[in-house]
Amino acid sequence: MAQLDLRQKLAILADAAKYDASCSSSGTTRRNSAGGKGIGSTEGMGICHAYAPDGRCISLLKILLTNSCVFDCHYCINRKSSNVRRARFTPDEVVTLTLDFYRRNYIEGLFLSSGIIRSPNYTMEQIVRVAQSLREEHDFRGYIHLKTIPDADPELVHQAGLFADRVSINVELPTVAGLTRLAPEKSVPRIEGAMRDVRTAIEDLGDARKRYKAAPKFAPAGQSTQMIVGADAATDGDIIQRASGLYGRFNLRRVYYSAFSPIPDASAVLPLRRPPLMREHRLYQSDWLMRFYDYRASEVADAADPATGMLPLDIDPKLAWALRFRDRFPVDVNRAPREALLRVPGLGIKAVDAILATRRWRRLRLADVARLTASIAKVRPFLVAEDWRPVALADRADLRPLVAPKREQLELFAA
Ligand code: SF4
Repeated sequence: MAQLDLRQKLAILADAAKYDASCSSSGTTRRNSAGGKGIGSTEGMGICHAYAPDGRCISLLKILLTNSCVFDCHYCINRKSSNVRRARFTPDEVVTLTLDFYRRNYIEGLFLSSGIIRSPNYTMEQIVRVAQSLREEHDFRGYIHLKTIPDADPELVHQAGLFADRVSINVELPTVAGLTRLAPEKSVPRIEGAMRDVRTAIEDLGDARKRYKAAPKFAPAGQSTQMIVGADAATDGDIIQRASGLYGRFNLRRVYYSAFSPIPDASAVLPLRRPPLMREHRLYQSDWLMRFYDYRASEVADAADPATGMLPLDIDPKLAWALRFRDRFPVDVNRAPREALLRVPGLGIKAVDAILATRRWRRLRLADVARLTASIAKVRPFLVAEDWRPVALADRADLRPLVAPKREQLELFAA
């Protein structure tokens, strides 16, 4: 590996980390001031955003320890056979960078992942050494998110949880067949075994802290995972069912969905094109329905096209479900329970809570609901109010085009 200075390593290893979606940065158009014009850039990598357990948005230095890897996962730009420039930080360099960036107020924490160097245990030791040094030698109190390596010794993964706020283990692909084909050195039982160990430790040490104040904290911001979408043949229905199973079995805080992006010198077993980004968005909306709107995974999957198992891209999954199950509507805003109101397309949690609070004092009219939603045209066919009943509207065969968002005219020269 060529000798690189810290800045060169940072450029390579921050760029390599961008493929991990386990933070909440969002994409935008590419702009920069490299030609001396203007100020700022949307292209730089290295700092991402995440949400702390109390809801604050925090900025994290997001890097890999190294982009060298002894594994050869087909979808990964860092795989052994990939022809990319390699770099590797020492644990001390990551500690120094984190502290320097923190003191300059660029970041509030660290997101650290890595390719596998030599062996899973060796790599995990290096990752733990970074977190241990930050916490114990420098009394670093910022946020730390560590990617853990499922094949590493469980004791090392446990140590990671003692220093990190959040740990994550990527399941990578939604199906066993997909993982076997695209990441043959990884194994679902080993990945799930590591997730189970983390769940057990979070719960055990959480219980211990309720009884003994001195008991150590273990990953207080929980564990999360990431699935790549569109690299294998898994349908949206498969992905939703898999995510639901992971939430239930491992008590995950988040499942992140990352649309597969074609990489240079890609393996022939990968698709040539990335899936539409809207597919990733629809999966996040489905995830939201399961976590906050009490939909079961099978219900969200029912919103998908039965022939393809894919969610529609032109409408959100909540509207797709409502159009498929028209017999569940209209819902009376003055009488229906909270669960039924949450199923009405266009009504969010805040709107439903406002309806429930208001109707304790008076009956709601359509205009009252209109003030709580962005589009009363979308909501109207699905509800009954004091002065409104969607007599003809609810049964119309052509309801979908009436409530679907209007297609935006694409700009000819848009990026
Ligand atoms: S183990 Fe991780 S870094 Fe290595 S090739 Fe597979 S996905 Fe990439």
